Amino acid sequence: METAQFDYVIVGAGTAGCLLANRLSADPRNKVLLLEAGGKDDYRWIHIPVGYLYCIGNPITDWCFETQPSAGIGGRILKYPRGRVLGGSSSINGMIYMRGQSRDYDHWAELTDNPEWRWDAALPYFMKHEDYWRGADAFHSSGGSDPTGRRPGGEWRIEKQRLNWEVLERFSEAAQQTGIPLNPDFNRGTNEGVGYFEVNQKGGFRWNASQAFLKPIWERRNLSIWTHSQAQRLLFDSSAAMSESSPRCLGVQVEVTQTGRPVLFEVKANKEVILCSGAIGSPALLEASGIGQKERLAQLHIPLIKELPGVGENLQDHLQLRMVFALQKLPTLNTRASTKLGKLAILIEYALLRTGPMSMAPSQLGVFTRSSPELKWPDLEYHVQPLSLEAFGQPLHPFNAFTASVCHLNPSSRGSVHLQSQENGSLPAIQPNYLSTDEDKQIAAQALRVTRNIISQAALKPYSPKEIKPGIEFQSEEQLIEAAGQIGTTIFHPVGTCKMGAANDTSRVVDSTLKVKGIRNLRVVDASIMPTITSGNTNSPVLMIAEKAAEWILRDAAR
Ligand SMILES: Cc1cc2nc3c(=O)[nH]c(=O)nc-3n(C[C@H](O)[C@H](O)[C@H](O)COP(=O)(O)OP(=O)(O)OC[C@H]3O[C@@H](n4cnc5c(N)ncnc54)[C@H](O)[C@@H]3O)c2cc1C
Repeated sequence: METAQFDYVIVGAGTAGCLLANRLSADPRNKVLLLEAGGKDDYRWIHIPVGYLYCIGNPITDWCFETQPSAGIGGRILKYPRGRVLGGSSSINGMIYMRGQSRDYDHWAELTDNPEWRWDAALPYFMKHEDYWRGADAFHSSGGSDPTGRRPGGEWRIEKQRLNWEVLERFSEAAQQTGIPLNPDFNRGTNEGVGYFEVNQKGGFRWNASQAFLKPIWERRNLSIWTHSQAQRLLFDSSAAMSESSPRCLGVQVEVTQTGRPVLFEVKANKEVILCSGAIGSPALLEASGIGQKERLAQLHIPLIKELPGVGENLQDHLQLRMVFALQKLPTLNTRASTKLGKLAILIEYALLRTGPMSMAPSQLGVFTRSSPELKWPDLEYHVQPLSLEAFGQPLHPFNAFTASVCHLNPSSRGSVHLQSQENGSLPAIQPNYLSTDEDKQIAAQALRVTRNIISQAALKPYSPKEIKPGIEFQSEEQLIEAAGQIGTTIFHPVGTCKMGAANDTSRVVDSTLKVKGIRNLRVVDASIMPTITSGNTNSPVLMIAEKAAEWILRDAAR
C-alpha cells in the first residue's frame, strides 16, 4: 500500500468539493488533496449546454445509479444520475441558478440552533463567489465590479439565457392571467412569480464548478487533484472501534486507477478529512467506514466505529410531474428539430452565435406559485420546456407540444440511501419513497389542477392546447394522484442524507458547523447536510454551504 500525507483531504470534486479545494488551498501553507472517483471534465459534451443529453446515463460522466421501486409512483425504478467527473453533478446538471427562498435558511437556523444559517447570514456567502450578468446590487455581486470591495464577487458566472420561444412567452402570459406576478429575478429571497431562469453559463458554454473554481488555480503547488481515485473507506486511530470517546479520523483509503492498474493508497490528513461526495456518496462512504446504524452495519459485517442512526436517512427530492400539451400554430423544438435542414440550422446558429437550442439549458421558463391561496409561500416550481418526449432519452414527439413540469418544493415524504454490500463498487440502495404521505399526494393532485388552470387562460386559447399527459380523463382526486404517480420522475435534487441538526436531535449526522457527530477531524460538506430541501434547485445552495464551511474549517485550524 502506497502512502501520502496532506493537511486536508477532500473526497469528491463536485459542486462543493471544487469550491472547497479552491478556498482551502488559497493559503500556500495548506497542503490540500482533492480526490475524485471520475475523470477530468474534458469530455466535450459537458461544455455544450445541450450536451447534458449525452452526459446523463453515460458512464464517462454519470454514476448511473437507479432507485429502488417506489410504491407512490406505481412501483417504477428511476434512473438517478449523479456526476462522476470533475465538477460532479454541476458538470451534467440543468445549469439553473436558484438560491431557494429565505424561509428555507431561516428554518435551517431554527433546526440547528445556529443563526449563522439564517437567510441574512447566508446571502453574503451566495454573493461571495457570484459573478452576475446584470452587475452588483443589494442581492448580487459581479466579478470585481464593486469599487468599494465590499461585494467583490467571484468565479460563479450567471447569465441570461440565449433564446427566444413564442410558446414560452404565451405560457408566461397565461400564468400572469391567473394572477401570478412577473418575476425578473428569482434570487432575492422570494422567488414567487413567472420568469426566465438564469443559468450557469459563460458565452454559451456550461460553467461548471470545475471551470469556476479549479481551472484558475490548477497550478497551485500546494493543491493535488487526483482523478480516477475512489475513496473506499475512512481511516481511524487504531483504538477507535473499542473507544467510547470520539474516534479521530486519520485519513482515507483510496483506490487510484489512473494508469488502468488499481493502486491502493492510504492518504493521511494532518488537519481534516472533508466528505464532499454528495447526497448518495457521502452516506455510503460513512457506512463503508463503520459510521451509521448499528444493526445495518452488523448485517454488512462492517466493524462499528460510531453509531449514528441518521446516516442515509432523511432523503428528500423534488418529484417533477411532467405534463405535456400539444398545440396548434405555435412552433416548438419538436418540429424545429424534426428535419435534417432544421438540425443543420440549429448547429449553424450555435457555431456562429452560440445561441439557439444547442445553448439551451433543459428548462427555460420558471414559475413559483402556491398550491393553495392560504399558503404564505410558493410551494410549487414549474420548469417549462418548448419540447416534449415520452421519456428522457427518447425522441421528441413528432407534433408541436410543450412540457410544463411541476414539482412540490417542500415534500414531507422521506427516503433513504444505504450500502447494500461492503464490496467496493457495489451501488447503494436508493429509496426516494416519493408520494408516500397523504399531504404530498394531495399537493401533487392540486399541482395538476393549477397547471390546467394556467393552460385554460386566454393567452393560450388561440393555440388550442390539448393535454397529452396525463390526459383529461384523470379528473377526481384519486385519479389525479394516480396520474401524478404515472408521470412523476426525479428532478435530480437528492439532499438530506447526512443532515445537520441541533445538539438534541438524535438523528443528526453533523452539527451546525458540519462536523460529524462524535468523530474528530471529519466533516461532511455537500447536499447531504441539508436538514430540509431548499425551495428550488439545489446546486447554488451547495456552493453557499461550501463557502461557509471553508471559513469554519480555516477558523478552527487557526485556533
Ligand atoms: C441531471 C441533473 C440536473 C440538475 N439540474 C440542476 C439545475 O439545473 N440547477 C441546480 O441548482 N441543481 C441542479 N441539479 C442538482 C445539483 O447539481 C446538485 O444538487 C449539486 O451538484 C450537488 O453537489 P454536491 O457537491 O453535493 O455533489 P456532486 O456535485 O454530485 O459531487 C459529488 C462528487 O463526489 C464524487 N464522489 C462520490 N463518491 C466518491 C468517492 N467514494 N471517492 C471519490 N469521489 C467520490 C462524485 O464523483 C462527484 O464528483 C441537478 C443534478 C443533476 C444530476
